[in-house]
Amino acid sequence: MRSAHSISCVLPCYNEAENLDRLLPLLCAKLAHLAPLWEILVVDDGSTDDTEARLRHWTQRPGVRALRLSRNFGKEAALTAGLQAARGEITIMMDADLQHPLALLDTFVRHWSAGADVVYAVRAHRDAESRFKRVGTHWFYSLLNHGGRFKVPEDAGDFRLMDRKVVQALLDLPERNRFMKGLYAWVGFDAVAVPYVPDARAHGVSHFNKLRLIRLALDGIMAFTVWPLRAVIGLGFLLALGAFAYGAYLTLVYLLYGHNVSGWTTIVVSLMLFAGVQLVSLGVVGEYVGRIYEEVKRRPLFLVKRELGQGIREDA
Ligand code: UDP
Ligand code: MG
Repeated sequence: MRSAHSISCVLPCYNEAENLDRLLPLLCAKLAHLAPLWEILVVDDGSTDDTEARLRHWTQRPGVRALRLSRNFGKEAALTAGLQAARGEITIMMDADLQHPLALLDTFVRHWSAGADVVYAVRAHRDAESRFKRVGTHWFYSLLNHGGRFKVPEDAGDFRLMDRKVVQALLDLPERNRFMKGLYAWVGFDAVAVPYVPDARAHGVSHFNKLRLIRLALDGIMAFTVWPLRAVIGLGFLLALGAFAYGAYLTLVYLLYGHNVSGWTTIVVSLMLFAGVQLVSLGVVGEYVGRIYEEVKRRPLFLVKRELGQGIREDA
């Protein structure tokens, strides 16, 4: 059994002023109980509410540190910012909206002490969620994990504990598309899953509407699989085969019976079908090319505008 010397806790925040006021005191007490050295890293992802003012207040407390990004970069970028700044021997990531029960942190640290490198929380069920989200999530994971060498566990999110070496491995990945759920699975290491039931959001509403969830899902599938490209090849073959068979049939009919087959409808329908399929295929290829473009630009993932407070000191 090893015992935790230092813990960093990363909280990505976008307009969570009220939630931070409730969460931070509880989290400070919890972390102080778990390790002698600890820090909370609040990443303010360009909030437009009172978050910055509240953070000025909270970062007066020892151990609470805040990074303010120059604008809203999205949760994945905010998490990466937090991981880069974290100095603890172990790093815990959780949402700032009190959906992730603090009581689970004890379990996380216990598993790490017993030798796990990663401890992640898995939703025990999705009963409270809409049908769209439940069915969509299931489809998403089956498409994401189709034929892959590693599996992204279903219903596991960003609420997790990671050892220093796992954090370093994630930071060493050079890509710009930070689909974190995939990256966690890609790096591997010894992981333990802990089932939990998320609480209701304490204040405000979720930032992930249907459109944003679909975009996130597309990012994940494009970043971790190439099956859409293969599917396009398969579709092309099928259609070519169909066209060949139909052509052969028409020739045969002409040779046997000699009548001119009236073909206006066939031509129009097949033209539209092939044009549609070609545009879809071009779109699929375009999605990948667009992502390559994003990668080669090599823009930073986020910009930090301001840092507040002191976390674990580098020499600690
Ligand atoms: N979040 C963020 N940047 C964003 C959107 C969300 O840092 O652009 C944070 C948000 O403040 C919260 C966490 O990510 O701490 C999870 O977001 P939310 O609760 O809206 O998502 P859900 O729980 O519905 O997945
Ligand atoms: Mg939430």
